[in-house]
Amino acid sequence: MTEITKLGLPHLEPGTVWLAGAGPGDPGLLTAYALHGLAEADIILYDALVDPRVLDLAGPETKLDFAGKRGGRPSVGQADISARLVDYAHAGHRVLRLKGGDPFVFGRGAEEALALVAAGISFRVVPGITAATGGLAFAGIPLTHRETNSAVTLLTGAGTDGELPDNTDWVAIANGAPLLVFYMAIRNIAQIVDKLTANGRPTSEPCAVVSQATTARQQVVVSTLDSICEAVLVADLQPPSLLIVGETVRLRDKLNWFDR
Ligand code: SAH
Repeated sequence: MTEITKLGLPHLEPGTVWLAGAGPGDPGLLTAYALHGLAEADIILYDALVDPRVLDLAGPETKLDFAGKRGGRPSVGQADISARLVDYAHAGHRVLRLKGGDPFVFGRGAEEALALVAAGISFRVVPGITAATGGLAFAGIPLTHRETNSAVTLLTGAGTDGELPDNTDWVAIANGAPLLVFYMAIRNIAQIVDKLTANGRPTSEPCAVVSQATTARQQVVVSTLDSICEAVLVADLQPPSLLIVGETVRLRDKLNWFDR
């Protein structure tokens, strides 16, 4: 921790909140800001996807408060999480809100930040390595490659109700977006594949599912759009996982450094 103080980072002040990302799993992917926040916080409100080893870095006096949300399990409501953040800050605590990945990528960080704004509470957003960048790096699948794609599209395969979001323009996505990374993809994977192929994406397109990326339990299933659903069933993957669709998936053959 002493090394981090040399960076001269700002303090997590009493009565303020840091909305921080903890990265996709491997604790080595924490940022210096997140480490600093862990050391300074009085209260850490953390999500289910945060690794226990990360929470072990909190000080002995720090209160750990679980705000886990996970598909299919009883969960704390978003309004309640925001209300807790506001209450802790109003009580003068130094609050670290620690979320998996990046707080502003499918993390509902904006909703929490807006609640803090409404309550007049100062906050800082600490970006984290999102699952798409961290997970694909550990899967040996580049997000971009000059020869295959000059754009990347991040999508969610499940809205707050768990269903496939109905505001996705599938014609545009299928035809104009060369590399797709779906968060929360498994539950509705069959529907996602149908939407893509029905709107013109070749059934032979390479795709992959990366589960528990960056952890020792990481699993990667590589397939094509017409076979990915079956391959995922056979592999019996555990959440969380990402679905990647696009040509860069082929590069994993050569670039898979982690599983080797
Ligand atoms: N804010 C997070 C995303 C939260 S939504 C971020 O920036 O990464 C939760 C979804 O993130 C999961 O359903 C899964 O699709 C993805 N995810 C998070 N961690 C992951 C991991 N280690 N491996 C694969 N997918 C992951």
